Amino acid sequence: MKDFPNTPAKGCGDTPILKERGQREVFCGLTGIIWLHRKMQDAFFLVVGSRTCAHLLQSAAGVMIFAEPRFGTAILEEKDLAGLADANDELDREVERLLSRRPDIKQLFLVGSCPSEVIKLDLSRAAERLSERYLPDVRVVNFSGSGIETTFTQGEDTCLAAMVPNLPHSDERSLLVAGALPDVVEDQMRDLLSKMGIENVQVLPAANAASERGIGPNTVFALAQPFLGETHAELIRRGCRHITAPFPFGAQGTTAWLRAIATEFGVPDDLFEQVTAAPRARAEKAIAAHAQDLNGKSVFFFPDSQLEIPLARFLSNECGMNAIEIGAPYIQKSIVGADLDLIPEGPTLSEGQDVDLQLDRARAARPDITVCGLGLANPLEAEGLTTKWAIELVFTPVHFYEQAGDLAGLFSRPMRRKAAIKAFHPNRMEAAE
Ligand code: SF4
Repeated sequence: MKDFPNTPAKGCGDTPILKERGQREVFCGLTGIIWLHRKMQDAFFLVVGSRTCAHLLQSAAGVMIFAEPRFGTAILEEKDLAGLADANDELDREVERLLSRRPDIKQLFLVGSCPSEVIKLDLSRAAERLSERYLPDVRVVNFSGSGIETTFTQGEDTCLAAMVPNLPHSDERSLLVAGALPDVVEDQMRDLLSKMGIENVQVLPAANAASERGIGPNTVFALAQPFLGETHAELIRRGCRHITAPFPFGAQGTTAWLRAIATEFGVPDDLFEQVTAAPRARAEKAIAAHAQDLNGKSVFFFPDSQLEIPLARFLSNECGMNAIEIGAPYIQKSIVGADLDLIPEGPTLSEGQDVDLQLDRARAARPDITVCGLGLANPLEAEGLTTKWAIELVFTPVHFYEQAGDLAGLFSRPMRRKAAIKAFHPNRMEAAE
């Protein structure tokens, strides 16, 4: 493959998948609100949940003292949970209070949680009822962030999937890029596409409802995030066509992602080279500075963010690492197939989780670095394994050329830290190991 000098003779596309359905250790989908509320300037996320849900959001997102927050929790009290009060009436009152105080809100998301699901509060009917009341000023949409149903990045997927049916129709030829990216990264992407002459570009989620443009059979879409399975399905349902490509991580992944779009829009090869050559060279240089610490080292992914497969592709092809196991909450080949084909055959591919069995496999393999959730990281560190928190890979800007070095650095730094500790405290490390 042109953009991948290290394309393996045989990739993981046909590797059998170990499917596990046991206890899992991941955050719930409410976590997505932490980055989504920053992207959507006119949105409000009203979690219909418990005090636990409110605490999760406040501790993870921080409390904004000077700004009006764009998320909150309608707390279900014991009498709601016991069915002694009509939670729908209380929800309507809460929404009325909120919208009368906040005319800046144009999109209101009712976000389901474990408690709202347990009492079977039908938030889709509530959203319909409230939309009828508040449209055209405010659109009310619901999605689930419940830990019973979703892993943490799926909150974004269920949110974006719920938005797709409301996007207006258009027959115009356009490109839609789905997946929330930090503003600075989105600007870099738009700049690259614009220099190639691709101008009719929209993103999902848009910054506000007023800037949403239409979609239809002449819309092609690319995913910026690999966890958007439901959004992908909804866009196909609206007649849009998916441009499949490896995800834009690292120099090679970014080039391949951009090239797939450039091919779709008939961008001449020389223009593509002219636009990508300099940032690609910068990215390669930045990665090389970290790859020396990563080359030949092994990595084990616990299923968490759903970024696992594209990241394993990046670490194998561009940093010389060997993946031992690549665990992902879900593996959808129509989305991550291009990355799977580029990972050299060998690692175990696992979908879902049975955490104890997977811990046994990680302990037996003793990888050089283990990518996992917060709950597993400390115990594994105590056992002498070097870890990387999966959630950090979602919160840090890691897409496209200019962030490629930072992405490699997220993996090389823990290795360097471990080597430094070992050099200063050899006995301590031996005790842990
Ligand atoms: S949605 Fe469920 S898992 Fe998430 S914070 Fe609320 S109770 Fe906990």
